Amino acid sequence: HLFLVPFLSRSYSTGSPLQKEEPITDEKGLGFKGHDMLAPFTAGWQSADLHPLIIEKSEGSYVYDIKGKKYLDALAGLWCTALGGNEPRLVAAATQQLNTLPFYHSFWNRTTKPSLDLAKELLETFTATKMAKAFFTNSGSEANDTQVKLVWYYNNALGRPDKKKFIARHKSYHGSTLIAASLSGLPALHQKFDLPVPFVLHTDCPHYWRYHLPGETEEEFSTRLANNLENLILKEGPDTIAAFIAEPVMGAGGVILPPATYFEKVQAIVKKYDILFIADEVICAFGRLGTMYGCDKYNIKPDLVSVAKALSSAYMPIGAVLVSPEVSDVIHSQSSKLGSFSHGFTYSGHPVSCAVAIEALKIYKERNIVDQVNSISPRFQDGIKAFSDSPIIGEIRGTGLILGTEFTDNKSPNDLFPPEWGVAAYFGAQCEKHGMLVRVSGDNIMMSPPFIMTPNEVDELISKYGKALKDTETWVK
Ligand code: PLP
Repeated sequence: HLFLVPFLSRSYSTGSPLQKEEPITDEKGLGFKGHDMLAPFTAGWQSADLHPLIIEKSEGSYVYDIKGKKYLDALAGLWCTALGGNEPRLVAAATQQLNTLPFYHSFWNRTTKPSLDLAKELLETFTATKMAKAFFTNSGSEANDTQVKLVWYYNNALGRPDKKKFIARHKSYHGSTLIAASLSGLPALHQKFDLPVPFVLHTDCPHYWRYHLPGETEEEFSTRLANNLENLILKEGPDTIAAFIAEPVMGAGGVILPPATYFEKVQAIVKKYDILFIADEVICAFGRLGTMYGCDKYNIKPDLVSVAKALSSAYMPIGAVLVSPEVSDVIHSQSSKLGSFSHGFTYSGHPVSCAVAIEALKIYKERNIVDQVNSISPRFQDGIKAFSDSPIIGEIRGTGLILGTEFTDNKSPNDLFPPEWGVAAYFGAQCEKHGMLVRVSGDNIMMSPPFIMTPNEVDELISKYGKALKDTETWVK
């Protein structure tokens, strides 16, 4: 977060900048006290993040704050409310399950019908490779933490106790628990948390526009990154590297699409050294990229997959890990030997979350959600990319219903605006003023609207983006 710096002519905080109240000083005058909640990813006690935007109601592609102001929810909550804000079938599925069996667990060979049914349905949706088992979590972070434990358990079972390191990528986001934050390649997730843990290594971010060498094609860039990955593996020792984890399209890192031939080359390297491939589909799965999974779009053949978010359209917390037959067979025989697979959460396979997720998957199928995304995504992508000529925009990138805008000066990846200006934060605030919510991160803004957006709503989104851009251009001048 950028603080409001008094001596700079242009500076913007990412707080809720439209609310002008003075921060409240605590009784001892030691600092500021906003509210009683320690809020996630919020700057804390000394910043302008004291006056949260309080959202009270949602309806289709819109949310409303407590003052009744209406916003187009261009991020679908946190890249997750795929079916929008008031899908009655999801509410009915939750209500019915709450009335029948609000809770039972899945430990010690006891479970519930919704969790068994969801596992079956979910495995059927994934066709890039054959997956044998689904393990349920409450979130994407828990799914990725679970991945690490599964992979370690697997390698221990195979008598490979040294094959334990993970390779992730700079700018990736895999969640914020200890291990998921370690896997993430964003410095803010590591700073002051003593992370990443030592068994996690990071390799190049595949952002062609920002990192390619002069004259280098996308294919050559991908080859160079694959070579760097191979060199890292060789330097560490292939017998020490257990798995490679990647989002098909990087979300929170700024919506970064893989360059041509990237996944083909990276998969060949990890296969060569018997390293498992984990696809973090937490944002990409269920249609966001215009395919059911990101793996379908980029021809990724993973051994393990993480999903969450749109699995229940975010109406209930749920995530899952999909496990290949090869990995699950080894885990199965090991846990039989040990007497149990001792990993899980009270709410793994929570029946209400599972009932909602089953209904969400049913709706995706019935409404041909992938076709629906593909029918509106060109309008969305072309409409926003038409602003690419703006002198304050470096790059607009996206596919399907996900899109990022990076603000730089002179159209160059190297001419950054002074970070204390907070150009993206200013843009985000103008969006908010015009009644639209986007995600701001550094000098990027990101959007991932609900799949149910109508063409008119897409036009409204584009128009609001245009107004916010105009405001920001004037402010930067
Ligand atoms: N993986 C990816 C790709 C994500 O984008 C996120 C959240 O944004 C996570 C994992 C973590 O999910 P959660 O916030 O549900 O723990």
